[in-house]
Amino acid sequence: MTDTHCPYCSLQCGMTLQRRGPVLEVQARPAFPVNEGALCRKGWTAAGLRGHRERLTTPLVRDPATSELRAAGWDEALDLVAERVRALQDESGADAVAVFGGGGLTNEKAYLLGKLARVALGTSQVDYNGRWCMSSAATAGNRAFGIDRGLPFPLADVERADVVVLVGSNLAETMPPAARHLDRLRERGGRVIVVDPRRTPTAERADLHLQPVPGTDLPVALGLLHLLVAAGAVDDAYVAARTTGWEEVRGAVIGWWPERVERVSGVPVAELTELARLVGRAERVMVLTARGAEQHSQGTATVLAWIDVALALGMVGKDGAGYGCLTGQGNGQGGREHGQKADQLPGYRMIDDPAARAHVADVWGVDPDSLPGAGRSAYELLDALGTPGGPRALLVHGSNPAVSAPRATHVTQRLAALDLLVVADIVLSETAALADVVLPVTEWAEETGTMTNLEGRVVLRERAVAPPEGVRSDLEVYAGLAARLGCTAAFPTDPEAAFEELRRASAGGRADYAGITYDRIRAEDGVFWPCPAEDHPGTPRLFAESFATADGRARFVAVDHVGAAEQPDDDYPLHLTTGRVLGQYQSGAQTRRVRDLPDTGPFVELHPMLAARVGARDGEPVVVTTRRGELKAPARVVGTIRPDTVFVPFHWVGANRLTNDALDPSSRMPEFKVCAAQVRA
Ligand code: SF4
Repeated sequence: MTDTHCPYCSLQCGMTLQRRGPVLEVQARPAFPVNEGALCRKGWTAAGLRGHRERLTTPLVRDPATSELRAAGWDEALDLVAERVRALQDESGADAVAVFGGGGLTNEKAYLLGKLARVALGTSQVDYNGRWCMSSAATAGNRAFGIDRGLPFPLADVERADVVVLVGSNLAETMPPAARHLDRLRERGGRVIVVDPRRTPTAERADLHLQPVPGTDLPVALGLLHLLVAAGAVDDAYVAARTTGWEEVRGAVIGWWPERVERVSGVPVAELTELARLVGRAERVMVLTARGAEQHSQGTATVLAWIDVALALGMVGKDGAGYGCLTGQGNGQGGREHGQKADQLPGYRMIDDPAARAHVADVWGVDPDSLPGAGRSAYELLDALGTPGGPRALLVHGSNPAVSAPRATHVTQRLAALDLLVVADIVLSETAALADVVLPVTEWAEETGTMTNLEGRVVLRERAVAPPEGVRSDLEVYAGLAARLGCTAAFPTDPEAAFEELRRASAGGRADYAGITYDRIRAEDGVFWPCPAEDHPGTPRLFAESFATADGRARFVAVDHVGAAEQPDDDYPLHLTTGRVLGQYQSGAQTRRVRDLPDTGPFVELHPMLAARVGARDGEPVVVTTRRGELKAPARVVGTIRPDTVFVPFHWVGANRLTNDALDPSSRMPEFKVCAAQVRA
């Protein structure tokens, strides 16, 4: 019996794995506080890839004669990668080689992948798919609070609030075990408010559902703040004592009267007024954002506007209240803390900070001047592949950008333009199928490593079974490549040794893991960062006394509504939005292969009025077209979506051929959540 955590989302539900002959059985683990034994169907079926016929167990290299992938030995594959990398860098410089990581990698892998890029490859070109997940909330959190931790309180605090406002979160479908907190809150008389263009299973449970046009969560927040000011609901004492910048924000919301908000967002005046009434008189209000609010070209501004609401009400740092981001990927949080983001070093240090560079270089035993500077953000990196001056080689670990990147057809073309594409994965994903070299690596139950869940709780996944013969861990891949590249810096292949190094590298940083050990995690059901010393208890709750800014005060930030980069017009008269379904996860590379999960394929959700207008019938094919591509899939005619909006889940090839690559100017988040579209039967 091995206690571990789910391989998928940021809840990191605790589970126990039991070996029964060749079968690995998932069992509940009621003692783990985050999920109290509950799992969603993805968790229950998490062992479904074990022994799968598509599991990769030998490296593959593309044969130049046939252009087909063929089996190869590890030495042949790694020698080939090192040789090609060195030749490309000799010809075009260190940045000719890029690295693309993932929000599902353990902290140890994310940390050493960043080190591999900066030290062994000497490239600035490293980023990860988590940039497409929480980066707008991360940027907003850093600006407002001086720190970015998804939830600055344990998830269980949700049920102690009086009113919870979920903006762009479908909690009940994306992380069902977390929804019990909403139920308990309502049982004790609390209210749940959902802001979402679709009436999702989460919205069905809500006391109030606001259904704005996709891309207009920002003016809803501005209008709410306008009404709170008018009602005298602002906590003036809190604002004066704990914040700066309020006057500018108050000036900015004066013009957002409810009728204007209704005109822009479609949210009726009466509903916005009811929202203001509920939050304005509640003792404890919690605002939680997720991808629906964040994956926009104005994602950072949208989150800042909702943070402004929470600050104006005096809720941030208050017990059972505040603002939080519900992170998405299993290790989206830890993945960005330890160095696989283009502008960050381990411990959430910024790469352009000389003191941060000196600290990390000392741990790595290299000259600080040898560390490269900031590189391109995730989408910009992919967009530059194979272009003049752009990377000529790409190493991909834990990501499937051919499916998950916005404007995916273009990204696939960029991947095809590379001189060398190397993909480490457990199955031949759509990205791996394009690669020159494919490296078969361990999956979750076959390796040990830490993850940082949506609460900032560092948890430990323990190895439960040996990997299939022929498979290596990502850490072994990094070590093998570093050695072949002549790099003498340490690349430990033992996860605990890697974590010990990460602790030193993070010490003194914003995400300080110095006091966290594997033994403490086992004994304490995880440890919350920051935890600067082994005798420090960890920090479940932030901001009670002060914020992580220079003067200890939170920052109000005045923002205004610009709107989505692409607005409907005569040719593309509808809004397209994308999202998840219960039975699948991310690009689906894993879950689409799990037999017990429903693989429905993509579908197009549209309102009966729209279906009647275009002649679409439930279950029959429709074609959705945007300026970037088209998708043909069965219609699902539902009354739960706005009549001006269509929805497509993104777990299958196709949805992201449609999405827009317009980027948020600060977070560099692509606008996954809205673009202009047309639909025809
Ligand atoms: Fe796994 Fe998330 Fe489901 Fe929990 S909610 S079982 S972590 S996918």
